Amino acid sequence: MNLEKLEAFLQKHNQPKFRLQQLKKALFQEGVSSFTEISTLSKDLRELLEKELPILSFAVEKVLTSKDGKSMKALLKLQDGNRIEAVLISPIEGVWSACISSQVGCPLACGFCSTGKIGLIRNLTAEEITDQILFWIQHLKTTNQKLSTIVYMGMGEPFLNWEEVRQSLTGLVDPTLFGFGARSISVSTSGIPEGIEKLAVEFPQVNLALSLHFGTDAKRNAAMPINRKNNLETLRGALQGYFQKTKRKVFLEYVMLAGVNDSNADADNLIEFVKSIGKLQLLHVNLIRYNATDSDFKSSSKERTVKFRDYLEQNRIGVTIRKSLGEEIQGACGQLAGK
Ligand code: SF4
Repeated sequence: MNLEKLEAFLQKHNQPKFRLQQLKKALFQEGVSSFTEISTLSKDLRELLEKELPILSFAVEKVLTSKDGKSMKALLKLQDGNRIEAVLISPIEGVWSACISSQVGCPLACGFCSTGKIGLIRNLTAEEITDQILFWIQHLKTTNQKLSTIVYMGMGEPFLNWEEVRQSLTGLVDPTLFGFGARSISVSTSGIPEGIEKLAVEFPQVNLALSLHFGTDAKRNAAMPINRKNNLETLRGALQGYFQKTKRKVFLEYVMLAGVNDSNADADNLIEFVKSIGKLQLLHVNLIRYNATDSDFKSSSKERTVKFRDYLEQNRIGVTIRKSLGEEIQGACGQLAGK
């Protein structure tokens, strides 16, 4: 929803000041998907708004739902014809988490990721980012459910589109707009130190996740080209700076790739890196099942993943095997390709 256009519209039609607050509440918190639903407005005004102002900045082309109903993926067509995807998952009964995109495509070209194969087409605007949330709020409203958490983990690297991501975060935590608690929002990066610093300074209560995936530069360089610029030593420094500023926990994402990063030696490298950061109590490793894409990578077996986890635990590393949702609708991590 473009707030500037909404304000200009209300001014043009000589509406009283409280009208804007009324509309913000209906749109951002109650999740109305049509102005005609707002019964506190006159019929004429509702019709005029409906005719002149689209609520969402994209068209929803399709929504896929997994058989168990716990994950959904929306294909969204932007006004310039580009497409993005936004995902909704329910890791726990009654809890819904939106995974949103920050760019069309991604410039970072991680070898195991479908989005990375597209390359960067363009950055999303703050409106296009928050409209993904608005859409899922509207969608959940149809079954009387609410959105609980938001993760910037869809298409794109959020810290390479910081101005728009910052604006979108500001809107999400604004009590007169979406009104989410900062701690219910997470931003996931593949390793942009400047972005980590900006998040720590500007949104210290928003959660940070680092997509680490490898414990040595050699392996990380091979699958994640960004590591050649921002290597593990740089990331270690960025995380230490983050802890100094926020004293908040960071989640290290580690996708389990069979024969690539799942051996005991890989676990040793990961342990060594994690311990070298210090503040073990503020670091938590999430092991993620790899979801099939058209790359040559394969997911580690369940048994290997459990052994890897146990080994990390024996070495005093906080670790969880994260449930994988959305694979069957191609809506899981690394599978988003805008189609
Ligand atoms: S994993 Fe994330 S950072 Fe890497 S290419 Fe995919 S979207 Fe970009």
